[in-house]
Amino acid sequence: MTTPETFPAPDPLLVPPFPLHVLATLRGAGHEAWFVGGCVRDLLLGRTPKDYDVVTSARPDAIESLFKHSLPIGKAFGIITVVPDSALFPGEAPVEVATFRAESTYADGRHPDPGTLRFTDAREDVLRRDFTVNALLLDPVPPARVCDWVGGRADLAARTVRAIGEPSRRFSEDRLRMLRAVRFASTLGFGIEPGTFGAIRALAGGILGISAERIREELLRILTEARDAGAALDLLDASGLLREILPEISAMHGVEQPPEFHPEGDVYVHTRLMLSRLPPHPSPRLALAVLLHDVGKPPTARLATLPDGTLRWRFERHAAVGEEMVRGILARLRCPNALVDDVAWMVGNHMRLADAPRMRPAKLRRLLAAPTLEDELVLHHLDCVCSHGDRSILGFLAEARARFASEPVLPAPLVMGRDLVAAGLTPGPGFKPILQALYDLQLEGETDKAALLARLPEFLPPAAP
Ligand code: ATP
Ligand code: MG
Repeated sequence: MTTPETFPAPDPLLVPPFPLHVLATLRGAGHEAWFVGGCVRDLLLGRTPKDYDVVTSARPDAIESLFKHSLPIGKAFGIITVVPDSALFPGEAPVEVATFRAESTYADGRHPDPGTLRFTDAREDVLRRDFTVNALLLDPVPPARVCDWVGGRADLAARTVRAIGEPSRRFSEDRLRMLRAVRFASTLGFGIEPGTFGAIRALAGGILGISAERIREELLRILTEARDAGAALDLLDASGLLREILPEISAMHGVEQPPEFHPEGDVYVHTRLMLSRLPPHPSPRLALAVLLHDVGKPPTARLATLPDGTLRWRFERHAAVGEEMVRGILARLRCPNALVDDVAWMVGNHMRLADAPRMRPAKLRRLLAAPTLEDELVLHHLDCVCSHGDRSILGFLAEARARFASEPVLPAPLVMGRDLVAAGLTPGPGFKPILQALYDLQLEGETDKAALLARLPEFLPPAAP
């Protein structure tokens, strides 16, 4: 396209004062300046933009000189972050102001090669962007108008994610764009244009050339921000990206389960169904636990013969096997340790919740004291409603929580190490199991310290001969 399509912007445009101030300041100094990218897309869709990006003909030094507070974090790429004065613009976020720049070459498929930065005009700046709906320019000054070099308006109306230019070339330049396409389709509820999708399928094998951190970031955003995380999983699967990033989830396809417990279908279908039922804005922890809870099933699946001769699929120790797998998968995606620990715990524990009615009080109270409990209850709920439908355990747990609610879930132990020393024992690793056993008695209702100490001999190791 040599001339852009220009059309009136919708009225009213709900842009906060600070981004408007940034734009007006640049223009007042004689520069060209537009809103661009996600904020324009979201305003035109009636969504609230997360942040505002500005593109301008002003060079980075000129941008810096126009604003009192700015950060040169991205200056090497022609980007200056302009920071609001909190007295004038209370509560407002910084705005990224980027000088129009041309497409760079990407030797590594991700970072523009050093020294290839070239400043240019609005058209070229727009053409280097990823998708047509992310490349609209907005002038918010009345009469507000949108400038479209790439057919983004039509794709927005058709709810389509379409690569700008030749899709396979654009995905080869920066492979992360393949995951971004799936993310935008999943969060906006858009389709992916067939040519764009075909290029992703052809190039999906190259996604692991991107750093694990960036893959994780996109994957978590897909799982937690998608309108329907189950549909998002299907899109990842159909694109070929799932097989590359999470082969352990692809392996769930065709892993059959006993129909009396899982009338919905195989392990993939069950997992996908649960993702579809996630509450809005789930935590990464919950989303990952749902995605991975049955990851131990494919490697443990065995066809067992029941006493009456019928065959039945079994998944012996799948939760424990899954827990180990989760540690490997999330470490591979460079997830923070606390997240790895929580998700691993939730996956390892997910079958135990069903045993709650048969647990001794001490064990039950520990179960209810886990910091992950809220998410575990959601996981369990989804696991039930997306299979056999029996939710009786949740009723039992709710009742148990109410019963324990009047007292701290885990009271301070009455007997401590120093009491064992006072009773004549020598401190050492043997203390832990003894204290644990006495604490269990306490949790089961013994509230008298002397009575607990009186039972100490039951837990002492047998005396050496
Ligand atoms: P959101 O912030 O809601 O996730 P966004 O569209 O604002 O979406 P950003 O990652 O903030 O996405 O990037 C801002 C803009 O920069 C995009 O709209 C797009 O025009 C451009 N862009 C970002 N990443 C790339 C990329 N990898 N390749 C090409 N253009 C990109
Ligand atoms: Mg953005």
